[in-house]
Amino acid sequence: MALAHTLGFPRIGADRELKKALEAYWKGDLDQDALKSVGRQLRANHWQVQQDAGIDLLPVGDFAWYDQVLTHSLTFGVVPERFDSTRNERGLPTLDTLFAMARGATASCCGGEHATAQYAQELTKWFDTNYHYLVPEFSVDQQFKLSWEQLFDEVDEAKALGHNVKPVIIGPLTYLWLGKAKGDDFDKLDLLERLLPVYNEILGRLAGQGVEWVQIDEPILTLDLPQDWKNAFERAYHILQYSPLKKLVATYFSGLQDNLGLAVGLPVQGLHIDAVRAPDQLLHVLDRLPTYKTLSVGLVNGRNVWRCELEPVLAQLQFAQERFGDNLWVSSSCSLLHSPVDLEREDKLDPELKSWLAFAVQKCGEISVLRDALNDPQSPKVQAALAESRAVQASRAESPRIHKAEVQARINAIGAADSQRHTPFAERIEQQRARLKLPAFPTTTIGSFPQTASIRLARQAFKQGKLSANDYTDAMHSEIRHAVQVQERLGLDVLVHGEAERNDMVEYFAEQLDGYAFTRFGWVQSYGSRCVKPAIIYGDLSRPAAMTVDWITYAQGLTDKVMKGMLTGPVTMLMWSFPREDVSRKIQAQQLALALRDEVLDLEAAGIKIVQIDEAAFREGLPLRQAQWQEYLDWAVEAFRLTASGVRDETQIHTHMCYSEFNDVIKAIAAMDADVITIETSRSDMELLEAFKAFDYPNDIGPGVYDIHSPRVPDTAEMVKLMTKAVKRIPAQRLWVNPDCGLKTRAWPETEAALVNMVAAARQLRSQLA
Ligand code: ZN
Repeated sequence: MALAHTLGFPRIGADRELKKALEAYWKGDLDQDALKSVGRQLRANHWQVQQDAGIDLLPVGDFAWYDQVLTHSLTFGVVPERFDSTRNERGLPTLDTLFAMARGATASCCGGEHATAQYAQELTKWFDTNYHYLVPEFSVDQQFKLSWEQLFDEVDEAKALGHNVKPVIIGPLTYLWLGKAKGDDFDKLDLLERLLPVYNEILGRLAGQGVEWVQIDEPILTLDLPQDWKNAFERAYHILQYSPLKKLVATYFSGLQDNLGLAVGLPVQGLHIDAVRAPDQLLHVLDRLPTYKTLSVGLVNGRNVWRCELEPVLAQLQFAQERFGDNLWVSSSCSLLHSPVDLEREDKLDPELKSWLAFAVQKCGEISVLRDALNDPQSPKVQAALAESRAVQASRAESPRIHKAEVQARINAIGAADSQRHTPFAERIEQQRARLKLPAFPTTTIGSFPQTASIRLARQAFKQGKLSANDYTDAMHSEIRHAVQVQERLGLDVLVHGEAERNDMVEYFAEQLDGYAFTRFGWVQSYGSRCVKPAIIYGDLSRPAAMTVDWITYAQGLTDKVMKGMLTGPVTMLMWSFPREDVSRKIQAQQLALALRDEVLDLEAAGIKIVQIDEAAFREGLPLRQAQWQEYLDWAVEAFRLTASGVRDETQIHTHMCYSEFNDVIKAIAAMDADVITIETSRSDMELLEAFKAFDYPNDIGPGVYDIHSPRVPDTAEMVKLMTKAVKRIPAQRLWVNPDCGLKTRAWPETEAALVNMVAAARQLRSQLA
């Protein structure tokens, strides 16, 4: 009989119970016992929900207080020395250790009064998702020791509840890959031999608890791996093969490709593949995986919100069943961690739209219905589910709310000239300089100013109908006036309105576009207690009316200085939304680009001389496999250019990207042809400008001179020093002076203090240059 399982379930809770409990605990409003009981309750609920939906094998080990990679570090005793004071009498890490590693330790929080402040571990993106994990830190003499009992406790807990469990752990190679070598320069792979005995110990203990199968996540098998890492896979699993458990190696987020032979040959009992992201690989795996092994096929998308189209998926599974028979398992493509929890909670969604969606709970139902369809195709329950799925797909395929002839006609009419500025940069920048009359090293900011409590309260009151539209506009106008006054007083050259009216850089625009829908509870964990609620693109996208023009022109009316208009770019809009699956990402990006292009033109027509199109998510859109980069970069660059290229030569287009790895994409960044790009550089000490220098990046650049992530106020000398470094790499007349990113998370006093110093730094640079 085929079997249904999930690779993991969201831990945050349908009501974000975990978030609330964690934040209360950190504030001191909840004690540790109460926190633990919230965790226990959530795990019990989540197992029950999955079991009720018909899942045969339930994941254990997918729960984490903060992050599963962090839990894994504790399990293996990978705790940097700076957190030693948070260990218990027996020298073992504690929950305080875990939170100190995640959030940094202060004297008042973790480790008692003797502890000095310790910085947290680094956070970084989990593959190409919006989930962030805590980067393990390895030292050259790293020892591994079983130090944290959570996994075993939770296995007992699930068993006591009568569940059939499958523990989930991160595989040894993926774990090493995700970490960073600290201190002396050494190869992380050298740690493998030391790491494996602890894996053996864990597997042995799980076997002792009566576990039959363990899921070992090795998603790096879907990456371009160096040869020594490929070799290490064989070595590692050869050593682990004698442990008494059956092992399912789980791969996801992309295809195995050149690692296929390696993956199917590992001495383990099962392999999971992602057949949503890489549908073509199913046939290859069917060919190559020995049929005495278990094949787990992920055909229910763990990373999007659409209902599974059951019939075509079933056809693929039946094909696999012919070869694998009872050794076939049905699953989600990846852990359901990346899906919202429960669609049932959405009481405000339009019923038709709702009928097209599935969140984690519903996805479990889909997985189990597919299993039933394999085991008993004629059962009335299966037949009814298939019929319903067919009806849903038909209603969607024909729905006029999705398909808009005007939008499609515009897409078809896009010509090469539409994504091309009228003249080359060298010519238009002269016109822009003549018009803008800015000094050398012009100063500006990235867009947002502090989102104060009063702004948030006003927005909340407006949304709840307690504040009239007029009063809300007045409140925002007063914030804009304040931002403009401050910037004039500080002597900034290019002003911004401050984005007071924006809750979020994507949602603000999505709410004003046709074709977007919003959930009330569709939260997905981003890191720790933080969740995001991406908007859903369900149909052809268009802009019924101007979105920002009133705010920006109001702001421009308050000053003689240049006011920069501020938009979120098409690629970022797409990356931070749940996209459609019935049309390509390229087409969705084009639709967004056309809507935003109209906004750019409206701003220009209203007299705005500079428009910034933020592309914060441009780089993270890069596919995991290098072979697929070009295809992505082509449409992503094209979408940006389509947004930006309608304007006259003298209108200046800025873009902003807040990260520091440009080497891979510098050519594409140049191809975007923004007149000015502002980037994050302060933390890398301007090092990243090397990429721009080496490539001879032709346009203007504003390398961020201070880190906005910290409340620390940098002094003028520091910023002058950074810019002096920048001048060595980029000609001075092409440099701007600005912070690393928007200032919305900062408070006003530190913001003003830092900007005073920044403006002073620019003045100093001008006089040095003169
Ligand atoms: Zn930024």
